[in-house]
Amino acid sequence: QTFTALGLAEPLLRALDAAGYHTPTPIQARAIPPLLEGRDMMGLAQTGTGKTAAFALPILQRLSAIPAGPGPKGVRALILAPTRELAVQIDESFRTYGKHVRLKTAVVFGGVGQGNQVKALSDGVDILVATPGRLLDLHQQRKVRLDKVKILVLDEADRMLDMGFSRDVLKIVDETPLERQSLLFSATMPKAIKKLGEEILLSPVHVEV
Ligand code: AMP
Repeated sequence: QTFTALGLAEPLLRALDAAGYHTPTPIQARAIPPLLEGRDMMGLAQTGTGKTAAFALPILQRLSAIPAGPGPKGVRALILAPTRELAVQIDESFRTYGKHVRLKTAVVFGGVGQGNQVKALSDGVDILVATPGRLLDLHQQRKVRLDKVKILVLDEADRMLDMGFSRDVLKIVDETPLERQSLLFSATMPKAIKKLGEEILLSPVHVEV
């Protein structure tokens, strides 16, 4: 199996080559084709399986193919993560894989001043990686708009629920358009995660690694 055979375009293939990735991991092989088609996904996967690239590559490819459209620029892909550390890692992955596509990425998280984050958002971003509390805070201050979101990812969803972000996550999801592609990744599949999946996903492809 190769990344080319999965349907990825040249600018992404070049970035993967530069990163030294030659073979897709199992989750990448199973997730990338349906995600490129726009399908929703419920993924049971741990960190370390290559799951970040599994969702980041299709997002980069799809967003570079869809023009931003008229009107004010808004976030088009939103990735929610439980912790600052994970959010920063995901943002770095987007920058690595997306270095040959012209999309802007930003990351926001709590525990630090919001000044730099607000400035990054005001420049207009295509892809935003965020922890739920800070994102909701910025949204309530009207520093970020979520009405242009086309792709939503909940990463490590079980940890987000364990950390008490359940209400914040649902409020954020409610601010995004109903017509969107939604992905939920979780290391475990308790009832609360299944229920969340039923609420936010439409005919999802199930991937387990
Ligand atoms: P993740 O599960 O997304 O946290 O990725 C785990 C690690 O595997 C990261 O350090 C990635 O850079 C690396 N990685 C992801 N996909 C591949 C691949 N196809 N080939 C080699 N390394 C990879």
